[in-house]
Amino acid sequence: MPELPEVETVRRGLARVLEGRRLVRVEQRRPDLRIPFPERFAQRLTGRTVVGLARRAKYLLIELDNAEVLIAHLGMSGRMVIAGGNGPPPSPHDHVVFETDDGRRVVYNDARRFGLMTLVDRADLDTHPLMAGLAPDPLDAVFDGPFLAARLAGRHTPIKPALLDQRVVAGIGNIYACEALWRARLSPRRLAATVTGRRADALAKALREAVTEAIEAGGSSLRDYVQADGELGYFQHRWAVYDREGVKCPGCRCGGTVRRIVQANRSTFYCPARQR
Ligand SMILES: [Zn+2]
Repeated sequence: MPELPEVETVRRGLARVLEGRRLVRVEQRRPDLRIPFPERFAQRLTGRTVVGLARRAKYLLIELDNAEVLIAHLGMSGRMVIAGGNGPPPSPHDHVVFETDDGRRVVYNDARRFGLMTLVDRADLDTHPLMAGLAPDPLDAVFDGPFLAARLAGRHTPIKPALLDQRVVAGIGNIYACEALWRARLSPRRLAATVTGRRADALAKALREAVTEAIEAGGSSLRDYVQADGELGYFQHRWAVYDREGVKCPGCRCGGTVRRIVQANRSTFYCPARQR
């Protein structure tokens, strides 16, 4: 599932293809994804020029020249594929095709259809139901230890599932929650409300660093295919603990081994020796 760094990589890739470009053809191939497309979706986009690409948490915001914003979420399996003249063959999971005035195509492919696209007036963006409850993401200037501690206060759940709550911190999913807790040396089983003071400082910093490093890795992968057609957003990245059950705690003298447990129906990976 794409998390903040993957969505940010998609944003940067799309910006290169779409920014300043007019959408000469938009094809909508089914009535809905997770929610229905807005009425006259393709017609409303056709002829519009893309003035900017922004991101809020895991939402892509495609800003149009008529003061509307196309909100897109990739869900569990959504992919944006850039196709030139000889793009990949059409797939039954290609649900939306955007064609620009310089002949490039952006194809939205989503096998499981948990993604969504909707249109909103820019003036209503902040109060839109998808945006209104979102916490800042770890790259936001206001996101620091005291801010995080305030959001965790009174939460009597373990810290790991609390980090997946988009009202605590936005853009974080299973991978970066595990990685940040490992960096901050905090057990995923620790009660969320006990993450205060220096622990909260360490976790806010760890979240920011984990996300920043992954965005840099995504940037390298973008450079690899900037000349070619390709899929945006998924890149090779080496995790410290995520999906690494049984390996020695990496780059660390604790002597521990990465363990997998299940919390709130999701796998958590951590080192019991390092993380308290
Ligand atoms: Zn260790």
